[in-house]
Amino acid sequence: MLPGRKAYWGSLELHQFHDASAVVRALSPDEPVILNRPHAAARAARFFTEKFPGKSLYAVKANPSPDLLKVLWDAGVTHYDVASIAEVRLVRATLPEAVLCFMHPVKARGAIAEAYHQHGVRTFSLDSHEELAKIVEATDGAEDLSLCVRLRVSSEFSELSLASKFGIDLADAAPLLQATRQVADALGICFHVGSQAMTPFAYVQALERVRAAVVDASVTVDIVDVGGGFPSIYPGMEPPPLEDYFAAIHRAAESLPVSYSSELWCEPGRALCAEYNSLIVKVERTRGDELYINDGAYGALYDAAHVGWRFPVRCLSEGRSEVQTGYSFYGPTCDDADYMEGPFLLPADIKVGDYIEIGMLGAYGAAMKTAFNGFGQADLVTVTDEPMASQYMGNRRDPRSSDNVVALR
Ligand SMILES: *Cc1c(COP(=O)(O)O)cnc(C)c1O
Repeated sequence: MLPGRKAYWGSLELHQFHDASAVVRALSPDEPVILNRPHAAARAARFFTEKFPGKSLYAVKANPSPDLLKVLWDAGVTHYDVASIAEVRLVRATLPEAVLCFMHPVKARGAIAEAYHQHGVRTFSLDSHEELAKIVEATDGAEDLSLCVRLRVSSEFSELSLASKFGIDLADAAPLLQATRQVADALGICFHVGSQAMTPFAYVQALERVRAAVVDASVTVDIVDVGGGFPSIYPGMEPPPLEDYFAAIHRAAESLPVSYSSELWCEPGRALCAEYNSLIVKVERTRGDELYINDGAYGALYDAAHVGWRFPVRCLSEGRSEVQTGYSFYGPTCDDADYMEGPFLLPADIKVGDYIEIGMLGAYGAAMKTAFNGFGQADLVTVTDEPMASQYMGNRRDPRSSDNVVALR
């Protein structure tokens, strides 16, 4: 967690259990419990460092937990995509030798200066002439910069768009690439196809746009950064294997008109940490097919509430019916918006006091907890069992064969 938020979390970090049921038996927790699976995050990191045909930068915003950062570092992730000066400081304090890349295209001047002069950051992204001028000024005209121009690309194949906010249009890219080339030691082009990209074609299409931009500008490009967007597995969202993404990116990047010694980078967030966390919640009330639970939209379930994301669930109480009902959840705050539509498939006779494990919350889940309305306490424990789904175990199931998954297509 970012400094300041950690205070809301208890410290059972040293406690290790086999699985969520063992946690419930031992603690009967009244507050939500976040389960860490370091072995799953390490496995994801090794997969990327060994199989991606280039360098993998971890996008810290997906989950900035220092414990996770150390797991990724130990598994071979040396580069980190940071987006704010707080993330720069956090990663620098946690991993003194890490290479930090400041990939937010709109930065405060003071943040750039501190990152460059105090934390050794040399890589920055930008999508405007104003930002380029700001970077040059804040680094006192540094000559050792790697500057990545962010290109706007389509988000049409992704579950969460990142297309409208950042990125220069292809039509305007040539002058910016040329101006950046003048001041950069290394020139890069980066993009983001949107989060949870459901087909490798998203990257192929984006790399076609990179090709057009490079040809248009006639500049030598040293870094091609395909960004994040690598998917994880959720109910109704079963993407192709990541090997297919890597192969398609490799092929498309190989044929780009870039410098012979150019580097290929990617910035996975979700794919490196989705499997790292799950969450234990308690049922506080039932009302038909609505369950009132003790975490929600202002906690780790932000995406479940705000974009209708579906997470896998399982009931941790024994002796419940095999018959399942599709439930929706209410979170603990007094806000009507604290509602998660689901449907979440759980036993038809689930009761007040029962516990539920919600899986795949390592990305944009555990990291989103706030203290709104006095809720947001959670204990942290480590478990050794496997996550509810995995891209990295070589045993991918057909989604329709799983009890807690509803196939949408
Ligand atoms: C959010 C973000 C990422 C990570 O995206 P995922 O979809 O989680 O992989 C990578 N790069 C940038 C610039 C981002 O903003």
